[in-house]
Amino acid sequence: MSKKISLIIPCYNEEEAIPIFYEEMKKVMEKMPHQEFELIFIDDGSKDNTLKIIRDYSKEDKRVRYISFSKNYGKEAGMFAGLNAVTGDYAAILDVDLQDPPEKIIEMYEILEKEDYDCVALYTDSHKDYNLIRRSLTNTWYKLIDKISDSKQMPGARDFRLMKRKMVDAILSLKEYNRYTKGIYGYIGFKTKWISYQAPKRSAGTSKFNLRKLIKYAVEGVASSSTTPLIMSAYVGMFFCLVSFLAIIFIILKTIIWGDPATGWPSMACIIIFVGGIQLFFLGIIGLYLSKIYLEVKQRPVYIIKETEKEQ
Ligand code: UDP
Ligand code: MG
Repeated sequence: MSKKISLIIPCYNEEEAIPIFYEEMKKVMEKMPHQEFELIFIDDGSKDNTLKIIRDYSKEDKRVRYISFSKNYGKEAGMFAGLNAVTGDYAAILDVDLQDPPEKIIEMYEILEKEDYDCVALYTDSHKDYNLIRRSLTNTWYKLIDKISDSKQMPGARDFRLMKRKMVDAILSLKEYNRYTKGIYGYIGFKTKWISYQAPKRSAGTSKFNLRKLIKYAVEGVASSSTTPLIMSAYVGMFFCLVSFLAIIFIILKTIIWGDPATGWPSMACIIIFVGGIQLFFLGIIGLYLSKIYLEVKQRPVYIIKETEKEQ
């Protein structure tokens, strides 16, 4: 029986990359003649011609669908919107810049058909497009998240994976507003086969993740998949109690033995500033989680749709 494969492609200002991607994807679809395809492009509030290009494709090619957001909601929102829209037996999310090579779909599909897995995912330990600092910071970050969160995460994992419908339903059953898909994958479980690959350079255009977006994504990753930072303050607090207790004993003994000349104010000032800084730091962490709770209780939609192919 022929299976339907749905592909979700988040796009933000990708007018240069989309035609290259579409041509590549056509070749892949020709190599898989027995499977039905559905390409769902997500226009994440692009300011360039992205929407026009995908609208034109959808008019010519019935396999092409699209969802256009009213503004830029971020890749996470794009992936969620795509998963909400898929109608296939299998679904994959892939970047439009060919850093998630479309031809891998063939191999991934065969694995899912033949072997007993629910999902095939890609990870990379060499990313030609990212400089050494970004690569090593990213790796350290994923290792840290893996340690402190209850969901397993693969260092170097991409968002690119082909999964069965039941996994898509599981992802959609998590209704949270603060979405961190890599953490969600880890949380929902299922049997995943990991394939290593070399991520190529971007096909065209530039990265849509600037430093600000990357930091936001990194903080989001920790805050939405772990509560360890909240507990950390208790440990640091206990440590400082112990240190101050020992210091008090030391000062009492010192006063009894040598008297109490009023020296040591500079060091005292440093200690007060240091401890004050730590308190503010942890207050900030509590604030971070509080803000997440605030956003959750508001129950706003993750994205707002301006247009889809159905309106054409
Ligand atoms: N993207 C998006 N919304 C955003 C930022 C990025 O939909 O706000 C898309 C982008 O068009 C691309 C994918 O997410 O298809 C990955 O982005 P990019 O290649 O710029 O990130 P990088 O590979 O540098 O991490
Ligand atoms: Mg990229």
